[in-house]
Amino acid sequence: MDPISPLEQALHAARALVLADLVAGEVAEADVVSLVEESVVQRRWWIEQWPEGADYVAGLVAQDVQDALLERYGRWPLCPVCGSGDPHALDVEPELGPDPHWVCHKAGVKVASVGFLGSATGGTPSS
Ligand SMILES: [Zn+2]
Repeated sequence: MDPISPLEQALHAARALVLADLVAGEVAEADVVSLVEESVVQRRWWIEQWPEGADYVAGLVAQDVQDALLERYGRWPLCPVCGSGDPHALDVEPELGPDPHWVCHKAGVKVASVGFLGSATGGTPSS
């Protein structure tokens, strides 16, 4: 049996991390999950061309899904740090690098690593 390649492991990890954040934001609907799958397919091609980019995949998938959601649903993930003012989305930093995390540029803070938004927001919806 073939061992799972490091590239596949990176893709599996990226998929799991972004899905965890979608679940934390309560937007993990079936069609949203399919956006993650589409991104993973595209990024599989991408890291096959450039295997050194495997560490960057989680941040890239997060940004792909963020862009796709913006077109279809609106901003995601909404900033959990700033309690007042206009709702705004978090950004992924670094845009192309390892250890991606969500940041709020308005407050200038790191909110959580990609995949750990649930722990940053306490996991309890305020509604
Ligand atoms: Zn904010």
